[in-house]
Amino acid sequence: MVTGKSKALFQKARNLIPGGVNSPVRACKSVGCDPVFIERAEGSRLYDVDGNAYLDFLSSWGPMILGHNHPAVTEAVRQALGRGTSYGAPTPGEVELAELVVAALPSMAKVRFVSSGTEATMSAVRLARGFTGRKVVVKFDGCYHGHGDTFLVKAGSGVVTLGIPGSPGVPEDIVRNTVSIPYNDLPTLEKTLRDGNLDIACVIVEPVAGNMGVIPPAPGFLGQLRALTAELGIVLIFDEVITGFRLGLGGAQGRFGITPDLTCLGKIIGGGLPVGAYGGKRELMDLIAPEGPIYQAGTLSGNPLAMTAGIATVKALQAPDFYDELEAKAAFFAAGLNSLSEQYLPGAVALNRVGSMMTPFFTTGPVTDFTSATTADTVRYAAYWREMLEQGVYLAPSQFEAAFVSAAHTRQELEATLEKTESAFKKLAKQQKTR
Ligand SMILES: *Cc1c(COP(=O)(O)O)cnc(C)c1O
Repeated sequence: MVTGKSKALFQKARNLIPGGVNSPVRACKSVGCDPVFIERAEGSRLYDVDGNAYLDFLSSWGPMILGHNHPAVTEAVRQALGRGTSYGAPTPGEVELAELVVAALPSMAKVRFVSSGTEATMSAVRLARGFTGRKVVVKFDGCYHGHGDTFLVKAGSGVVTLGIPGSPGVPEDIVRNTVSIPYNDLPTLEKTLRDGNLDIACVIVEPVAGNMGVIPPAPGFLGQLRALTAELGIVLIFDEVITGFRLGLGGAQGRFGITPDLTCLGKIIGGGLPVGAYGGKRELMDLIAPEGPIYQAGTLSGNPLAMTAGIATVKALQAPDFYDELEAKAAFFAAGLNSLSEQYLPGAVALNRVGSMMTPFFTTGPVTDFTSATTADTVRYAAYWREMLEQGVYLAPSQFEAAFVSAAHTRQELEATLEKTESAFKKLAKQQKTR
């Protein structure tokens, strides 16, 4: 299906870059397609090297909540560029973004900037282990926390998309200290955390799961998790790399009213440039070098261009009604998807949505954890994805990812996307009959 310059570039890239891509899911393997190569983006749209335009619901996997090439962000970065790209010494921008983050997320007394979400989660776990003097990390099946060795056990995102059982190259000795349990399963959670034989340093969780497709926390799940970890002296880490500044300025923790000990951020706080961050309680953060003994560093951490993009993005998000308007748009879009699936694929699509992140699972549902997520018909998702791409809509190239509505999507564009969805669902319904 992919032809022209994209096809030629992919052929060349495969000889130069593993799989032709710098992050696995981009290769579009699981949707049975070769990738299109993108030349530029503007507002709600991506433009490929062959001149095709796509309405973008991938949002660069989450960061582009304002849409692409947002004037305030682009102008700020343009100005910063004129002042040089990196100094390796402190800058005012780091202090300004830290102030914005700490004001938005009261659980974070201090914050340290890094260059990716992966770095943020790795550093947060080191801090939790250093603080408690314990080893074991508890995570949840289907949650993804970047590609650190510790986390590649029943991980979500590309690991589940490509059907990789963990990863070769991760030593047994390391994953022995990771325990992965089902999401939203309170009895198993309590049993695991109270197991006296486990030397548990921390629990890390996506407070709304986004990397096995969108799965909201069951009522009481996060509250019980907070109560148990507090009682047992276990550090609670919220991985808000997707949800931070996505579900409101206060992230998922603000939305659900839960205060974690540590929080990891990424994606949106970089405004499309590489930024991650971790932060939390003062007594924990004061253990980080050079204040304390736990080491963590980065040559390009707090990079001035990246800080500038982050500051401009967060300031734009502070506009009154920003999140109410985004919520209303996402709710409108989700309601449209639901009525189309009821009409054409009754009982065969389970749509999960929290705020502006959503996933239509091609299964009867409900989808509440990794096991139910993986009942989804990935062949059908692939057919849907290809049909939408053909019609100029770019969705996440995997059933186990989120679709993001951004501030740049207009009502008309969402309506147009629903019309395209209708024609895609009609085709899927026919294919079902002839199967
Ligand atoms: C994307 C993501 C990460 C990893 O961030 P990178 O910047 O890709 O390293 C970690 N946790 C969650 C929840 C994510 O969605």
